[in-house]
Amino acid sequence: MVKELRLILGDQLNHRHSWFKEVNDEVVYAMFEMRQETDYVVHHVQKVVGFFAAMRTFASELQQAGHKVIYYKISAGENEHTLIGNLNKVLATWPEVELVQYQLPDEYRLDKQLKEWEAAIPLNVVAVDTEHFLSGRNDVARMFETRKQVLMETFYREMRRRYNILMEGAQPIGGKWNYDGENRNKWKGTPPAPSQGWLCNNVSSIYKEVLRSNINTIGHIDAANYTWPVNRSQALDILHNFLEQCLPYFGVFQDAMSVHSIYLFHSRLSFALNIKLLSPLEVVQAAIRQWQKKPGLISLPQVEGFVRQIIGWREYMRGIYWWKMPDYAQLNYFGNTRKLPQFFWDGNTQMACMKHSIDASLKHAYAHHIQRLMITGNFMLLAGIHPDEADRWYLGIYIDALQWVEITNTRGMSQFADGGIVGSKPYVSTANYIDKMSDYCHGCYYNKQKRYGERACPFNSLYWDFYERNRVLLAKNPRIGMMYKLLDKVTADEKSAILQQAAYYQSHLETL
Ligand code: FAD
Ligand code: SF4
Repeated sequence: MVKELRLILGDQLNHRHSWFKEVNDEVVYAMFEMRQETDYVVHHVQKVVGFFAAMRTFASELQQAGHKVIYYKISAGENEHTLIGNLNKVLATWPEVELVQYQLPDEYRLDKQLKEWEAAIPLNVVAVDTEHFLSGRNDVARMFETRKQVLMETFYREMRRRYNILMEGAQPIGGKWNYDGENRNKWKGTPPAPSQGWLCNNVSSIYKEVLRSNINTIGHIDAANYTWPVNRSQALDILHNFLEQCLPYFGVFQDAMSVHSIYLFHSRLSFALNIKLLSPLEVVQAAIRQWQKKPGLISLPQVEGFVRQIIGWREYMRGIYWWKMPDYAQLNYFGNTRKLPQFFWDGNTQMACMKHSIDASLKHAYAHHIQRLMITGNFMLLAGIHPDEADRWYLGIYIDALQWVEITNTRGMSQFADGGIVGSKPYVSTANYIDKMSDYCHGCYYNKQKRYGERACPFNSLYWDFYERNRVLLAKNPRIGMMYKLLDKVTADEKSAILQQAAYYQSHLETL
């Protein structure tokens, strides 16, 4: 007889969770595809299909292993389409259930729903860890609550020590903690970027179900040749391919961008990690093993750069999220108000860098970090887009977008709407940086060198306007003072022409 119900959310596909060590006839697992999840923001179609495909595979693997599973598909008649509605429905059909367990959600909104439900029902409800992350929800808060400076680097070093990762006793291997400064090359076509086209899933039937359900989505899908991993074995394949083909160049070209490759040497592991098909520890351990096996091919800065993203940035962002939510979602340091121009949804812009990054996002539900930060994010901040609009776009468009890691990167790192909790200064640039790190400017309609006048690159005037209009908020920042010195050296006529150009672009965002 079933006595216990265990809830598995769509991003909790962790095969190695201790829940699954034993098959127990008294336990039933519940998984739901729900409109509540497909509709809280407009998602990329590949994201909706990918979640359902991975969830269904996970459920059937559990069943094959002998576990009892209740699974509501998106098209199922009994589906209430809300988490609480479905939980109540399942409990009504299994009145003998005495205990409900759930794994701690990563999303604040789901955590809140479950806590409120737990308080309102007479059953015993227990929340357990997801056994995925390397740090606790509150570790970042505990570490920084009483410190003046909140720094990822401090947290990262603590994680290296705690897990003895790339350490030699108490010291970092190689004598340095961080090799970021060595990871800044432009990619000029060599070595060739791997094709990364090795995965091919046919998800046509799920896609048809999504269409039949009239779920509003963005972006494109080739459902017969779906390239994101939908099970653990495919996630491990992606990891293996990354280690073999990309890790040797990961750090060197981490910030590079090119019209010839979307992924370059990036891992594409974020989706598999975020839905927990892979654990962060196994990923970094595999990278370190590969470096130890091939020290001549993979240098320390490559592997350190990769490890830092996962045990540093990823865990840190989660910690900031649980420390600062729910207020974090309201922050708007610069008081930005503009709406996102339509070209974010269709790629119809003459700015080559933006067109390439947006087109790739619509086509693949992916853009790598620098495209998100220094192209689309940079533009949004310079143009004065409201952070809610920015969040809505990033949360919808990327396959890996879950609020805990999206909002901290978007509102925090990219839009500086938190006033400097995540980053110590806004990530903005003129065409100069974009041209240094990419081949986008070559052949662009706009002139990368011009700050005003015909076809002047919008990033140039908007950049100086950003500093001018936010002078009160930024001038005292020691990392920014230099920009104001530069701005103040510009002649009055020149400055006026730049700011007029920016004003024109701001009032014509839709036509850029
Ligand atoms: P790689 O470059 O190969 O990096 C390896 C792994 O490190 C990633 O898979 C990811 O798990 C982790 N990682 C790297 N950078 C970060 C970071 N800044 N924060 C957290 N983890 C990191 N990442 C998401 O997973 N979901 C999001 O919704 C998301 N939204 C973002 C929005 C903006 C505006 C920006 C600037 C960044 C965002 N990121 C997000 C972080 C990062 O861009 C993606 O994790 C990365 O591009 C995923 O591609 P990859 O797996 O090829 O990463
Ligand atoms: Fe982007 Fe400006 Fe370069 Fe065009 S010229 S690609 S708009 S940075």
